[in-house]
Amino acid sequence: MPGFELFGELERNEVNDVLDNGVLMRYGFDGMRNGHWKAKALESELQTTFQSKHVQLVSSGTAAVSVALASAGVGAGDEVIMPTFTFVASFEAIMLLGAIPILVDIDDTLGLSPEAIEAVITPKTKAVMVVQMCGSMAKMDAIQRICNNHNLLLVEDACQAIGGTYKGKPLGSIGDLGCFSFDFVKTITCGEGGAVITNNKEYYTNSDHYSDHGHDHIGNDRGAESHPFLGYNFRISELHAAVGLAQVKRLPEFLEIQKRNFGILRDALSIIPEVTFRTVPEGGEESCAFLNFFLPDLETTRTVIEGFKNDGVDACWNYYDNTWHYIRKWDHLKDLKSLFPISKEVKEGLEYLQTKTFEKSDHYIARNISCLIKLSWTEEEVRDRAAKMVAAIKKAL
Ligand SMILES: *Cc1c(COP(=O)(O)O)cnc(C)c1O
Repeated sequence: MPGFELFGELERNEVNDVLDNGVLMRYGFDGMRNGHWKAKALESELQTTFQSKHVQLVSSGTAAVSVALASAGVGAGDEVIMPTFTFVASFEAIMLLGAIPILVDIDDTLGLSPEAIEAVITPKTKAVMVVQMCGSMAKMDAIQRICNNHNLLLVEDACQAIGGTYKGKPLGSIGDLGCFSFDFVKTITCGEGGAVITNNKEYYTNSDHYSDHGHDHIGNDRGAESHPFLGYNFRISELHAAVGLAQVKRLPEFLEIQKRNFGILRDALSIIPEVTFRTVPEGGEESCAFLNFFLPDLETTRTVIEGFKNDGVDACWNYYDNTWHYIRKWDHLKDLKSLFPISKEVKEGLEYLQTKTFEKSDHYIARNISCLIKLSWTEEEVRDRAAKMVAAIKKAL
């Protein structure tokens, strides 16, 4: 997945344009910038990439999720349904707005289970946040239907699935709002950065203003702009946008390499009858940023991970004991360890985490191995890796 593996001349040239005129900020300073508007140019490129009418760049993927929710009016006391398997950013972004994350099970797609969503809908539910983990997608038709039936906002976190598609649509562009991250380890990187995409003009205008202190961005005198509502600073800098602008132009090349490497590994593992792969909904195409497969049980999975380590097969994880991506080890969330007081509503809203169990998620995550697909591997290296993986799995079975 990581775009940083293929960092070079193109990225340097774009950054040098910015350094040459010294305008590091995305707004204003028109006279000094010699026509360089890197953030605007990247937004325009991303409109095409994501087939979306509007794109708002922000400072991170986490900021993108908060800005997306805020721009659609999600806030204090609202419940947002999210999966147990994701990145900690999901609940951070929800809680920043005073909203309540409602965690529910995933299914064999490794994404939100439609049945689990329906089971927790209450009058307080405002949004469903689907997270397209590890390059693939949840059952989007069923989830979209639930959202339509219950009049819920659908927010799509596609931070890990840039380039994946569902029925021909880029992941991230299916829900009411989509979120992307361009942090250092994502498929394309800005160093730090993120984006909110939407076809809804009002959500876009809100995210444009909200991510820059509520500035209305009318006219060319920043100091004189009015503030239709309160905002924060989630701006991206021109330096970061410049790196992203070079990277996004290479996305087709990155995706092709990912697909080749993924295909070699998947073909090799598929000869082992005990290995099964995550379900990809019909009409879906993975971005191939990760290869995910299941083994018969947790013990075998742990042995295989150990075997991979011993044989130098890096960048493969089992998330069961992972502190960043899975509910089991999110003690700081369960214990509500916060630097500052948390509202009574959120405290009460999260009490369910003391007792709720997630057997269905455990069933999939305990047996899953997720392998990062790197861009820098040669074909020979991938074949060698495939052979080592097959040998380690066979030995553990
Ligand atoms: C990386 C990531 C984020 C957060 O992105 P940052 O840019 O690091 O803040 C959010 N959600 C998912 C699924 C991610 O993988």
